[in-house]
Amino acid sequence: MLFLHGKKVVEDIEDGVRFMKKHPEIDDDFSYFEMTRAEKMEHWWKRFNVIMKDDEYHRYFTKHAERTTDASWSWSYLYHGASPLHLHQSMFTKTLIFFASDSQRAEWLPQATHLKVIGCYAQTELGHGSNVQGLETTAKFDLKNDQFIIHTPNIRATKFWPGSLGVMANHAIVFARCIVDENDYGVQPYIV
Ligand SMILES: Cc1cc2nc3c(=O)[nH]c(=O)nc-3n(C[C@H](O)[C@H](O)[C@H](O)COP(=O)(O)OP(=O)(O)OC[C@H]3O[C@@H](n4cnc5c(N)ncnc54)[C@H](O)[C@@H]3O)c2cc1C
Repeated sequence: MLFLHGKKVVEDIEDGVRFMKKHPEIDDDFSYFEMTRAEKMEHWWKRFNVIMKDDEYHRYFTKHAERTTDASWSWSYLYHGASPLHLHQSMFTKTLIFFASDSQRAEWLPQATHLKVIGCYAQTELGHGSNVQGLETTAKFDLKNDQFIIHTPNIRATKFWPGSLGVMANHAIVFARCIVDENDYGVQPYIV
C-alpha cells in the first residue's frame, strides 16, 4: 500500500481503522467468507447505515470521496470482501469530481457522498473496450426539448461490464458520443 499509494493514503487508512474500532458491531470476522452473496450485501448495508449516521465517519467518507489525488480508496481497505460501493466511490464519484463543472459538482457531489445517489460506471461496450474513442452509444442533443437522448444504435454499442448496475446503483455515468446538429463532439460522460 505504501509503495502503491504513498504515506498519506496509509495514514488515512490508519485513521479509518481508528474510526472502525469505535463501532465493533459493524466489524467483521472470517464468517464473512461463509456468507451468501445476499448476506454479504445485507452486512455491508448495516455497516453503511451506521457509518452514515456517524459524523466522524461521514467526514472521513466525504474527505476521501472528494479527494482528487488518489482515485482508488475504498471501504474494502478496512473490511473483508469487496464493498458494494466500490465503483460508486472509485468511478462514479471520481468522474463527477474530474469531469463535472463547478455547478454540476455542487449539485451532485453531496448527493453521492450522502448515498442519496448511488452510481455505476458504464463506459465499456460489447464491441469497444480499450478503444474508448470507438464507443458508439450516442447522446444526441434535442434542441426543441433541451435534453440529451441517449441511444444504443447497434448491438456493438451495448454497455457491457458495468459493475453495481444490477442491484446497487440507481444512477450511472454513461459515456456516449455527444452529437449536436449532426456534429460529433466526441465521447463525453452523462449522468443517467
Ligand atoms: C471484472 C471487470 C469489471 C469491469 N467493470 C467495468 C465497469 O464497471 N464499467 C465499465 O465501463 N467497464 C468495466 N469493465 C470493462 C473493462 O474496463 C474492459 O474490460 C477494458 O476496457 C478492456 O476492454 P475489453 O475487455 O473489451 O478488451 P479489448 O480492449 O478488446 O482488448 C482485447 C485484447 O486486445 C489487447 N489490446 C487492446 N488495445 C490494444 C492496443 N491498442 N494495442 C495492442 N493490443 C491491444 C488487449 O491487451 C487484450 O489482450 C470491467 C472489466 C472487468 C474484467
